[in-house]
Amino acid sequence: MTLLKSQVAEKIPWSGVLISVQPRIRLSRSFDQRNHSYLGYTLRVRGRIGSEARDSLLGVGEGAHAKHHFRVGNTASGDALPLADPRLETVEFYKISNLKVSVHEVDEETQPPPWRGAPPPLPVYRQRGHRRLAARTYQDKCTSCMWGCKMAVEMIIDQWNPSARRYRTETFCYGPRSCPLYQSGPARKVPGRHGMSYTEEDWVDDGATSHRSFDEYYSQGTTEIPRHPGPDFVEV
Ligand code: SF4
Repeated sequence: MTLLKSQVAEKIPWSGVLISVQPRIRLSRSFDQRNHSYLGYTLRVRGRIGSEARDSLLGVGEGAHAKHHFRVGNTASGDALPLADPRLETVEFYKISNLKVSVHEVDEETQPPPWRGAPPPLPVYRQRGHRRLAARTYQDKCTSCMWGCKMAVEMIIDQWNPSARRYRTETFCYGPRSCPLYQSGPARKVPGRHGMSYTEEDWVDDGATSHRSFDEYYSQGTTEIPRHPGPDFVEV
């Protein structure tokens, strides 16, 4: 198939300072079942996108992060495509090319929380597990923390009719269970067939994170993160 020139999306140049680096993860829900797709990392960039001066959200892959170790304070530039389906991601732009990243230019480390170091590899997030995080808390206190994540959520309403889907966003925390900024917010409900709904109770979060001690190493104020998951981690 030959595309007309007007049908080909053009990449947009961007540049600025990274004010947040968080995991880029999509959550799929089907009533009480859930699955995660680990897409890479989300860069929140304060600078220019095309001709506009504003903050923008850009998606990068795991390989780019392994190479550049993105962190708050870096300056970066490149070209990016607008997202094809905004329901499936919380970033606005992706498929970045001509990526250039400067060295870290933050003079003073601020004491966490929030944690603003270079985020760990994605298997570390999977191994740690998450708790729900109140949307307001995320917005007010956690957008710059590497343990915070705003996920695009795709919900299959009827497993016998998988084409019936709905979309929304949810916020989560992968950070220390002792973080003083943490607020869970209300339990989340997942719509199902025939008007039913499933409420995700607190025990789900406990089950996902109780393998970590309450006062784990990360709560001591360090941003030093192991580059590899623990020996009991199994890639699936
Ligand atoms: S609540 Fe979670 S995401 Fe927010 S600052 Fe604490 S560890 Fe980071």
